[in-house]
Amino acid sequence: MTDSYSSQLDALAQKGNLRKLPEMNPQGLYLMRGGRPMLNLSSNDYLGLADNEALKQEFLQTLDSRDCRFSSTSSRLLTGNYPIYTRLENRLAQLYEAESALVFNSGYHANSGILPAVTDSRSLILADKLVHASIVDGIGLSKARCIRYRHNNYEQLERLVAENAGEYDRIFVVTESIFSMDGDESDLPRLVALKHQYPNLYLYLDEAHAFGVRGRQGLGCAEEQGFIDDIDFLVGTFGKAAASMGAFVICSGEMKQYLVNTMRPLIFTTALPPINLAWTLFIVNKICNMQARREHLARISARVREALNPLNGNILSSSHIIPYVLGESERAMAVALKLQHEGFYLLPVRPPTVPPGTSRLRISLNAECSDADINRLIDSIKKIQSAL
Ligand SMILES: *Cc1c(COP(=O)(O)O)cnc(C)c1O
Repeated sequence: MTDSYSSQLDALAQKGNLRKLPEMNPQGLYLMRGGRPMLNLSSNDYLGLADNEALKQEFLQTLDSRDCRFSSTSSRLLTGNYPIYTRLENRLAQLYEAESALVFNSGYHANSGILPAVTDSRSLILADKLVHASIVDGIGLSKARCIRYRHNNYEQLERLVAENAGEYDRIFVVTESIFSMDGDESDLPRLVALKHQYPNLYLYLDEAHAFGVRGRQGLGCAEEQGFIDDIDFLVGTFGKAAASMGAFVICSGEMKQYLVNTMRPLIFTTALPPINLAWTLFIVNKICNMQARREHLARISARVREALNPLNGNILSSSHIIPYVLGESERAMAVALKLQHEGFYLLPVRPPTVPPGTSRLRISLNAECSDADINRLIDSIKKIQSAL
């Protein structure tokens, strides 16, 4: 007999791993909790745009009434492919100076759908151990064999490619540019060099945490380092720094056509509402000129990393996502409560989201945070750390 649902829930609670849906009361940068404002350091609103009144007003005032629809009422393959889709995809392709862009309902749709569509039993997927759950689910739906290589371990990856290149029609190396939980980065020059050694190797790069944040126009780490043309599947999402919803892949024109014909989470879902796409296009056009916000975010991130990286063992953030690794879940919960008491809304991240023994607080900084906010945060962490 399998365990009852209630005993499974009890077991989760006992380990401090029971999840609940928190009630939110957001006010700009702050969340109200028990009548007190707390600085929200747990959202992915990296540029601080999600509650920007001026942007919202400007969007509504310039909105074309043809785009003011709150539902598309069918799949893009039927009657859901409104002209705003084409405008957004053309703009993305133009910004990336790429052949094509294809927009999806979410990053989850993109990552769970692209790999199953482009692989078969003669493909091999090599994925970083720490890729996002949506990629893991895409791998699960694919008919390809998959090997997960140790996080950012390029010796192992290169060995796996060398051993297997002759055995498979295609090899897909799948990773993220900035990793969700550790805030570290993949080594793009090394990945691109590997790709150029093997004609049947494809690079799949998830830039969910870098889109809006990195690169001169905020297009991500591939833009920042000059590798846009070398990535076969460059995935970005609109739900984080872009303060919207949806995702996209930058790819060849042929690949776009192939995905339109084969990718189930594109074909069998209702298209995004036109008003949402119009907001995304509006924001994308703003983001590419937000260098000052990106620079401020980079500066405050460097300060928080300087305080926290020495406490985190071998987990070394290089971005605006900065973990505070505490070990067991109970300890992460206790420190989260202390920091909440100090006015910082931080949540413990526990297994299975992160490996056992590495429960942590995930600090995700926001370009709206002031230098004074950052000073207070660092002081509070130092105080709590010295009392642990
Ligand atoms: C958030 C995230 C996704 C999922 O994107 P959604 O648009 O929220 O579904 C995919 N990949 C990574 C790395 C993410 O952090």
